[in-house]
Amino acid sequence: MDSVVASLTKNRRTTFERIEKFLSKDYFADVGLRARIYPATQPVVSILHWNASAARTQRPLVPHPSHDSDSDGDDDSGPEWKVPVPGRDAFAPYTLGEPFGPTWSTHWFIVDICIPEAWIGREVHLLWDSGSEAMLYEAGGTVPLQAFSGGIDFQMRDCYVLSKQLTAGQRQRELWLEVACNDLFGAGAGGMINPPDPAKTFSVKKAAVALFDREVFDLFTDFEILFGMAKCLPENNPRNYQAMYLANHIINTFKTDPSVKISQLRKLTSEFFAQKNGDSQHEIFALGHCHIDCAWLWAYDETIRKCGRSWITMIRLMEEYPDFRFVASSAQQFRWVKDHYPVVYEQIKKFVKKGQFLPVGGTWVEMDGNLPSGESFVRQFLYGQKFFQEEFGIKCDTFWLPDTFGYSAQLPQIMRQAGIKYFLSAKLSWSLVNSFPHHNFLWRGIDGSEVLAHFPPGESYGMNVTVEDALKTVEKLKDKGRVAQSMMLYGYGDGGGGPTPVMIERGRRMKDVDGIPKISLDKTVADFFAAMEKDRKNLNVWSGELYLELHNGTYTTQAELKRNIRMAQNLFRDGEFLDAVMYAFIGIEPVDRREQWQDFLLQQFHDVLPGTSIGKVFEDANNILGSLIDTLNQDCVSALNFLSSSQPPYFNASCGNIHYRNPQSGIFAVLPPYSMTNDIRYLNTFPYTIKIEKLKDDSIRMENQFLIVTMNRLCVISSMLLKKSRTDVSRECVFPSGRANELVLFDDVPLYWDAWDCMDYHLEAPGRSDYQVVSFEIGQADVTSVFRVSDACPVRMRLFMHPAAPIVQVECDVDWKERHKFLKMQVDANVTSENRKATYEIQHGWLERPAHRNTSWDWAKFEVCCQRWADVSEYGFGVSVINLTNQGFSVRNNTMSLSLLRSPKAPDPEADMGVHPLKYAIMPHWGSFQEAQLIQHASSLNDTWDPAYETPTDSDQAQRSGLVRFFTISDPAVILDAVKTAENGQSRAIVIRLYESYGGSAVAAVETLFPVEAVQECDLLENFVGEKTPVKDKKFVVTLRAFEVKSFVVFLTSTTPGHW
Ligand SMILES: [Zn+2]
Repeated sequence: MDSVVASLTKNRRTTFERIEKFLSKDYFADVGLRARIYPATQPVVSILHWNASAARTQRPLVPHPSHDSDSDGDDDSGPEWKVPVPGRDAFAPYTLGEPFGPTWSTHWFIVDICIPEAWIGREVHLLWDSGSEAMLYEAGGTVPLQAFSGGIDFQMRDCYVLSKQLTAGQRQRELWLEVACNDLFGAGAGGMINPPDPAKTFSVKKAAVALFDREVFDLFTDFEILFGMAKCLPENNPRNYQAMYLANHIINTFKTDPSVKISQLRKLTSEFFAQKNGDSQHEIFALGHCHIDCAWLWAYDETIRKCGRSWITMIRLMEEYPDFRFVASSAQQFRWVKDHYPVVYEQIKKFVKKGQFLPVGGTWVEMDGNLPSGESFVRQFLYGQKFFQEEFGIKCDTFWLPDTFGYSAQLPQIMRQAGIKYFLSAKLSWSLVNSFPHHNFLWRGIDGSEVLAHFPPGESYGMNVTVEDALKTVEKLKDKGRVAQSMMLYGYGDGGGGPTPVMIERGRRMKDVDGIPKISLDKTVADFFAAMEKDRKNLNVWSGELYLELHNGTYTTQAELKRNIRMAQNLFRDGEFLDAVMYAFIGIEPVDRREQWQDFLLQQFHDVLPGTSIGKVFEDANNILGSLIDTLNQDCVSALNFLSSSQPPYFNASCGNIHYRNPQSGIFAVLPPYSMTNDIRYLNTFPYTIKIEKLKDDSIRMENQFLIVTMNRLCVISSMLLKKSRTDVSRECVFPSGRANELVLFDDVPLYWDAWDCMDYHLEAPGRSDYQVVSFEIGQADVTSVFRVSDACPVRMRLFMHPAAPIVQVECDVDWKERHKFLKMQVDANVTSENRKATYEIQHGWLERPAHRNTSWDWAKFEVCCQRWADVSEYGFGVSVINLTNQGFSVRNNTMSLSLLRSPKAPDPEADMGVHPLKYAIMPHWGSFQEAQLIQHASSLNDTWDPAYETPTDSDQAQRSGLVRFFTISDPAVILDAVKTAENGQSRAIVIRLYESYGGSAVAAVETLFPVEAVQECDLLENFVGEKTPVKDKKFVVTLRAFEVKSFVVFLTSTTPGHW
């Protein structure tokens, strides 16, 4: 055959478009290349149908996603789809096009195929399109073979290789299909993120056997590369024209000379692809990936199937392509597959051993990176790493979090202490205002810990391995000259899917082709970071949080779920502390809370905790959390009942004092941190007085020893005077003509991502705040106002004062029925905040963010998140706001805003509708927030909001055991955040976790009542890192850097003392 002849035309455009049309499925397809991939098809012989969902009586109340693997034939247990499949006799005949449904239901099909004799020796495929996700099984429906993705054009997976070389014995076959009535992205009505259409129907549009011409397919794939080069390389690059003319030459030959074999044409393309780059060409490590959201536009039930479907399909690709590498994170998803698809799981284990299936991440799920508590982050890694270690013998060294809505500045330390050195993400490229300056950098946390971070510069975790993807990866790279390689994550994702054969085929061709970056398919994540390590010295450092300038409504959306998460976090702390007490002193074997934690950690997934899933997800999540909260509550109560015969028992696992108030006697009693008592009379008590009066102008004045507050009948505060103890001095905390505790209703219509986004412009449209008062009542120590923020939305607000600190506490019951409105509580603080920063609590520490709007980076942070408090201070004075669940916050100049409720309508149209019990507190203070013990107050208020006690009678005198202080720590900056029984089967040992909370170094003496013999520092996975130190007199010293987290294994005496 002749060598390549360039186009005769002088018009680049016609040549270029000719090639495009030759590949098209829409234009001149009958004479193009695509139609020849399947030169012959034949319908299947018969299709039978059985509706599984009709066989189900009801959906279980709480689907227990981790461990409902017992398929005992009970219709109402386990996931929606887990109905036992009957024999063939129960199936009815089905004809193509017949509708079935509705949304989320499950349908089984049996297809009988008979392949023409003439196809013997050839490659034959099954083609299937039900417009929905489906899993192909061997006859009988127990051995899964591969998934189909449905009819979404750009993500089509519609073929299964029946035989590469058909034999006579393979001509007839019975196959089963489990069809889900949803597609990869759920079932949104008229738009992806719209609430699901509950009545969607589907139909089988294609069910056929087809003759596959692999040579044509190979040529087609070659052509895609050539076309991609002609399309994407610069027009002043000769390589562009070389690719285009080769493609044109092949079309000419193909059309004019039927005697030319495709293999001859492919020789030309092979020669072209064999022309190599120079040594300096950038290398792309292409890793197969399939982002599966644990829940999003579908519920947990469906995710289990998505994992099964996606991963068996990946196994098929690994068998076909030994150079194919596939990365999967999330221990939870492996657990689901282990429980529900044991056959698939065994194959995964095999390919993990072979180094093709690569478990990464080290966390239980890919969690939200902003909102969980520090201890929740710790447990994500603890239980994630444990799982990977136990199942695969792997300790992950890369934290894998491509898709979450911002990243806490404490994550680097937690990663490092959990054995993680590397971090991979992609989402920051979504920032709306500023472009993050790196794809490769050292990420430094608030304590100084560093991890090596890579954001694939293609800025997607679902690429297709096209020439365009490869060029984009290099073009967009922000660290040119600093690194020689980038990662490319390819494969359909979000709803599962994964790579397709054609993506791998493209990657193979682009291994080293002059003009395009080198692509390697066979490298691992470890290979990538090992290569990046070599460039470490070239990299810049990014200190502090990775703030996503988008999706900042997610700190607020789905308030009930966020409340449940906070409650469960507190209960885990209390429950585990009591487990340790019962074990150490009494010898009662601890409850294994691993499964409980795992169920809890799932609810912190990056579309669940942020509130960005469909309604069904929150129904499930709140059910799971509800039963977890009940169990933890019961466990705490029974432990306390055992330990203390008084009712109620007084127990404080928080780092702050809890102040119990006696409404009858007007005194309050102080229960110090980490302690318990049988009798309140063992505590320090102080008298407490509060004076409430109505002033002439109808305003109300409330005064105690710390504050004088003046408010109107909406409880909006116009003046708050902070007294200085033992002086007559007081200062105004509310800015002149400003207000505090004012509820403001903003308009809240984002650009697209409804549940996700509140846009900066919402600040331009605050609504009125002079609402209509329905009733107002002055109590003995509080005031209660009922008012309406709109006709639809009544609010009952109770305001009272903390007995032992300058804290105004507010409870609001809001009956929320708004549409696209955003409710916030505002405080105009009398603080010189221009050019200042506001301080926000984060996990195990705090950070500062600007309160001004100088640069675009400052402006973009118009809504941020915190843990339990935010503060604005000037020298010697400040104002803080403490929240019990609301983590969205903003500070603009002097105005502090706590975000309370949003009302998005997609993907859950019922998001946040209903009654919300909201609680927050305003705390002005002298000195710094550290001196004012803000952290301790925020902790104890979150533990016990408004505790009262009854005057004890003498009848319980016999059971008195005094005040039991389990821990006393000499430095208030050092906080004991977790006390738990030890993992790893360690007997007579507990684990404690402390952190430095003020932002400076600390040396603290820790005194404990526990029967301790020795302590030894450990990491977050509870592996020892220090020397074992004997402990004398139950006292030891800890040294911490600013914001450092330290864990210790506390070795107990071998015998239980039975008493304190
Ligand atoms: Zn995601």
